[in-house]
Amino acid sequence: MHPIYMDYAATTPTDKRVIEAMLPYFGEMYGNPSSLHAFGQEAKAAVEEAREKIASHLGAEPAEIVFTSGGTESDNFAIKGAAYANRMKGDQIITSAVEHPAVLETCRFLEKEGFRVTTLPVDGEGLVDPDAVADAITDKTILISIMHANNEIGTIQPIAEIGKLARERGVCFHTDAVQSFGQLPFTVDELHVDLLSATAHKLYGPKGAGLLYIRKGTRISPFMHGGEQENGRRSSTLNVPGIVGFGKAAELAGASLVEEAARLTAMRDRFIRGLFDRLDGIRLNGHPTRRLPNNINLSAEHVEGEGMILSLDMLGIACSTGSACSSSSVETSHVLTAIGLSHEYSHGSLRFSLGRYTKENDIDTVLETLPQVVGRLRSLSPHHAGRQ
Ligand SMILES: *Cc1c(COP(=O)(O)O)cnc(C)c1O
Repeated sequence: MHPIYMDYAATTPTDKRVIEAMLPYFGEMYGNPSSLHAFGQEAKAAVEEAREKIASHLGAEPAEIVFTSGGTESDNFAIKGAAYANRMKGDQIITSAVEHPAVLETCRFLEKEGFRVTTLPVDGEGLVDPDAVADAITDKTILISIMHANNEIGTIQPIAEIGKLARERGVCFHTDAVQSFGQLPFTVDELHVDLLSATAHKLYGPKGAGLLYIRKGTRISPFMHGGEQENGRRSSTLNVPGIVGFGKAAELAGASLVEEAARLTAMRDRFIRGLFDRLDGIRLNGHPTRRLPNNINLSAEHVEGEGMILSLDMLGIACSTGSACSSSSVETSHVLTAIGLSHEYSHGSLRFSLGRYTKENDIDTVLETLPQVVGRLRSLSPHHAGRQ
């Protein structure tokens, strides 16, 4: 059996067309885009072409895109940058309980620096209530950071609504769109965001290339100091191959986004229905419809997530428990805790994330294999004794 990769939310394979676009910039086109000579200008032209492709995908101006090293840096830059730039205005940051650690840990750091962080709860399907955001805003609020789509359970937040009310109240609004960029159709104006994070390796681009969209006029302090690249907003010599790959990846994602979202949504829903037909004692985590086209997060009672992952891995099927970052620790996922999942269910959680190279027969294989794996593990579980 060929190996089946169903962990696209952790990272995606790099598209061959992206690799091809990048290769010359590892080789003969090695110039530094800040240099004035022909070598530099050639590299600069490639960076600017990528910036334009990405800006047009987002409905933004090229000058509003700042390249970074990835989603984590972009989240750090957005939150620390907006917090420090607005320190004279206030000290309150509003976020949600289901954010990526790159947001939650940055907020925790800022708390130690004297900022106040309001962490909003979510409902049982992982949604933030826009009314709760409105109620939390005070005249000391300087930043709201709510993710677009959740990396563990796939729930898509009402970002446009939250963005609208942030704008009405004059509060800077950041969204981590790492999971939705290239997967959901949106522009920065439709979402009413001032700051938006994305990363290339979640949309078939290379690792180590990210971006922060910064709406014109947004107050943000630079986070990297040095050579004043990116108009002084992010110092360091640009990652030219990575940026070229990111541009190509955004172009490719944009060209097939609608059809690909429909294809993945149909596979996702067949996968979910198939599992419910074949397995007892399972639940779907996250929202049934307001969820990423590629995300399936489920919990099975009387079985451990790690046990399922390892058994599936031996059979050539790659998926994850919770998020990739937390799956090496035995701690329960903060996202599953936030949606109110009991200990029993959260320990038996699995995330399958589909993508560009997932085929219908991969779904069939997993639908055959997973019930066998769960059945075998349950037969060994003392909690499951006597039940079938
Ligand atoms: C993957 C991910 C990140 C981190 O991006 P890196 O480029 O790996 O640093 C941040 N936020 C979300 C929602 C993610 O899924």
